[in-house]
Amino acid sequence: MSEPVAMSVPRIPAMLAPPDLVVDLESRLAESLVTQALQIALKEIFPGRIAVVSSFGAESAVLLHMVAVIDAATPVLFIDTGRHFGETLEYRDRLIGHLGLKDVRSIGPSAEEAATLDADFNRATWDPDGCCAFRKVRPLERALAGFDAWITGRKRFQGATRSGLPIVEFDGTHVKVNPLANWSAAGIEAYIAGHQLPVHPLVALGYRSISCASCSSISRPGEDPRAARWRGFNKTECGIHRPIAGRGLSLSKPSRGTKTTATAVETAETMMSGPSLLSKTCS
Ligand code: SF4
Repeated sequence: MSEPVAMSVPRIPAMLAPPDLVVDLESRLAESLVTQALQIALKEIFPGRIAVVSSFGAESAVLLHMVAVIDAATPVLFIDTGRHFGETLEYRDRLIGHLGLKDVRSIGPSAEEAATLDADFNRATWDPDGCCAFRKVRPLERALAGFDAWITGRKRFQGATRSGLPIVEFDGTHVKVNPLANWSAAGIEAYIAGHQLPVHPLVALGYRSISCASCSSISRPGEDPRAARWRGFNKTECGIHRPIAGRGLSLSKPSRGTKTTATAVETAETMMSGPSLLSKTCS
C-alpha cells in the first residue's frame, strides 16, 4: 500500500477554486488509494466543510462504508424526495445502524412545495425535469449551502453521460469529489461481499440503479444501469450534477456498456481499501 500523499495541502476556498486548483487536487488524490483520497478530502482539505451525498441505492454501501471507517460523524445528505421505495427508506435506516453513521440528514421538498408543485402527486409522469427540480435539485442546493465540497458515489460505468466523469470537478459553487469514478461493477460487488455489507433488497429483484419508485425499473440484460431510470423519457440525470466548470485529470475512460472483470489483485486490493484512483480497474 502506498503512503498517503503529503498532508500539507492548503485549504482551498471553493468559491474561488479555479480549474488549475481542481486539476492539482485531482492529481494529488489520484496518486492515492481510494480510502486515502477520502481521508485527505475529509480531514486535510475540507475538514468540516464537506458532505457525502448518498441515495442509499444499489451501490451506496461502498462509499458509505469507507466514509464511516474514516469518520462516522461525516455529514451524509440523503434526498428524501417523498417518492422513494419503502425498501430504500428501510435500507437507509438499516445501513445507518450497520455502519454507525452519526450524521445522516434527510433533506427534501417542503410540504408546501410538494402541495403546490405536484398537487396530484403525478408530476413525474409528465414533467420529470420539473419534478426532480423541486424534489431533488433545490433541496440539495439548500443543504449544500453550508459546505464547500461534496463527495458523490458516481461511477463511469453507470452510463454514457458519466463515461468521462473526472475524480474532482468544480460545478461553479462547490468542489465535487468522485472517488469511485473508475471503479467497475465487479469491484463494487467484490467490496460489498468482502465487507459483508447489507445489500439493498431491490437488487435481488434486478434493480441496478435505484431512485424514486416511479422512475426506477428493473435493468434489462446488457444495458447501462442508468438506462433503467425514466423509461420513456429522454432523461438520464436528475439535475443535481451540473456541467463542470473545471477540467479533470485525463484517465482512461471505458466505453459505454463495457463489462469489467475483477482480477485477483484488484479484488484483494478492493477488499482492503479500494483500488488506486489510477488503477486500471476503470476499464
Ligand atoms: Fe420526481 Fe422521478 Fe425525479 Fe423522483 S426521480 S424527483 S419522482 S422525476
